[in-house]
Amino acid sequence: MIRQKSFQTNSPKLYLVATPIGNLADITYRAIDTLKNVDVCFAEDTRVTRVLFDHYNITTRLECYQEYNKESQAQNILKYLRDGLNVAQVSDAGMPIISDPGYYVAKLAMEEGFDVVPIPGANAGLTALISSGLWPTNFTFYGFLDSKTTKRKKELESIKNHKETMIFYEAPHRISETLTDMLEVLGDRNICLARELTKKFEEFIRGKISEIIPILPELKGEMVVIVEGSKAIEDYSSIDPIKQVDDLIMAGMLKNEAIKTVAKRIGISKQDMYKNYLENKQ
Ligand code: SAM
Repeated sequence: MIRQKSFQTNSPKLYLVATPIGNLADITYRAIDTLKNVDVCFAEDTRVTRVLFDHYNITTRLECYQEYNKESQAQNILKYLRDGLNVAQVSDAGMPIISDPGYYVAKLAMEEGFDVVPIPGANAGLTALISSGLWPTNFTFYGFLDSKTTKRKKELESIKNHKETMIFYEAPHRISETLTDMLEVLGDRNICLARELTKKFEEFIRGKISEIIPILPELKGEMVVIVEGSKAIEDYSSIDPIKQVDDLIMAGMLKNEAIKTVAKRIGISKQDMYKNYLENKQ
């Protein structure tokens, strides 16, 4: 057991400091104060953090801590702490450690008995959740799904019966593939796509996955996808299966995939669904 009483000793600390997710004003007084007063700050991309530092006249020395150099830099951070120095760790945006580097060194510092102190602030997932209109009380933060379709679908399969609202991060160049996989595996759920949060072009797109897929090619910028939990998904038994196939095709799915998806939803074989569909279209 390790007990940490953050503010009752003068021992050196590792501060995990949240920074803005777009709008430079979204930073706390305490975060600025901490970043000014520590001896050194470790950042992901020091050029990104330099912009923040210049804006707030923070002159603390910046060093780089990224996924690729985390082992060697963690040793440097531990050495600073052992020498009695206070260290901050930030990511490019939002909370360090949340889908960002930082966990590795934070864990080592805790194990060595140093205080690891959070300085809270902006986070893209929670910012999107509160304006999504989807049930906020119980939620799962998922972060990034795998970049490969097969693995991504497996991950989605493993969470498709989760009743809680889900929070995903996604890169703009993969959003179409991801939403198409979500439509196939999770069904046509309500989602909220939150884009460019806190920035000039902030936008919330709330609707069914099938409604949003067609407009994805026109969307740019950073995105969070909030997905409703399984309890609220549509009862497909009440919707004409032929219409379901047509809706999926309209949303950009290939005919064969759409037929397979609907067959799975309503529990008949793909061959039977194919036959029904063709007969209906004659
Ligand atoms: N640590 C960050 C946090 O606390 O939110 C997340 C960092 S993660 C590497 C980057 C992802 O967060 C982006 O791909 C995007 O999904 C999401 N994100 C970050 N800033 C955003 C913004 N301003 N608007 C929408 N999504 C954002």
